[in-house]
Amino acid sequence: MSISFKRTLECALEAPRNIPARDLAGMLSCNDKSVVADLFAAANEVSKKCSKVLLKRALIEFSNICSRDCYYCGIRKSSPLINRYHMTIEELLKVSEEAKEEGFTAIALQGGEIESEANTAFVEEFLSRVDIPEITLSLGEQTTDVYKRWKDAAKGKLLRYLLRIETSSTELFSKIHPPEASFNKRLGAIRKLKSLDYITGSGVMIGLPGQAIDDLANDIVFFGDEKLDMVGMGPYIPCDSTPLQAPTFSSQERLELSLKMIALTRLYLWDVNIVSSTALEVLSSGARDIALRVGANVIMPNFTPNKYRLEYQLYPGKQQIK
Ligand code: SF4
Repeated sequence: MSISFKRTLECALEAPRNIPARDLAGMLSCNDKSVVADLFAAANEVSKKCSKVLLKRALIEFSNICSRDCYYCGIRKSSPLINRYHMTIEELLKVSEEAKEEGFTAIALQGGEIESEANTAFVEEFLSRVDIPEITLSLGEQTTDVYKRWKDAAKGKLLRYLLRIETSSTELFSKIHPPEASFNKRLGAIRKLKSLDYITGSGVMIGLPGQAIDDLANDIVFFGDEKLDMVGMGPYIPCDSTPLQAPTFSSQERLELSLKMIALTRLYLWDVNIVSSTALEVLSSGARDIALRVGANVIMPNFTPNKYRLEYQLYPGKQQIK
């Protein structure tokens, strides 16, 4: 291993946020097998040092109705290829109960982004009735009032919110979203959640068309600057029905970059929860388990009922994975 990579890893093991962005980019670009092996081993060492344990959250995709049109997403509002569904409160409570019976103490509720009183009240009612100690919401940008209402409704439960920024590059953000999407508004929503004491997470896609290695290195710095409690990221997988197509990197490159991103995020942030995403498994069977050995510590098994799962296809191949 070159002296500079060795020194980068030694510094990273001394303290959090002890890797400059240019060295993060250098590690991401490096394909030397022994360097990558040392990177993964160092990330695993930090996980142990921070006593990170495996956390399991039962994922329930309760609705694929979305008001947005993100260029990469299979359930975007313009997608002609899916049937729209919305689970009832009783269905949602039943699935949550099933997760609890299987030993889960945490669920993650995910759906398209809808800003309406009906949606707010639905989630509010669910949060006040569900009997499970920890809940993660991933329901997009909402007003402060809505975030407050959900927080109040979940009183006595631990509430997390995952709002992915998808890229910390404002330029790239504007290329993968329609003009009405605003990077600053999304960032403002992440900060709003933090100020309301949500346990807040965000994340990015890896291998987007036009994405540079420097963008990914800056994403890791962004996670630190925003003091996130959790990070959920995964490889970009093109979806036939969307305008965004050819990824910048091959499947193998996106897989390797994703694992390096996980390892470097662990090395940069130390005590943070990092999701091992389903998208990794789509690129390579067993990749989710590898991610858990190189810095990730959260898995989200899919509890969405089978009759709905096929219609929640953010990207191809997702629905086959439990
Ligand atoms: S990424 Fe989220 S907000 Fe964008 S279209 Fe898909 S579900 Fe809707």
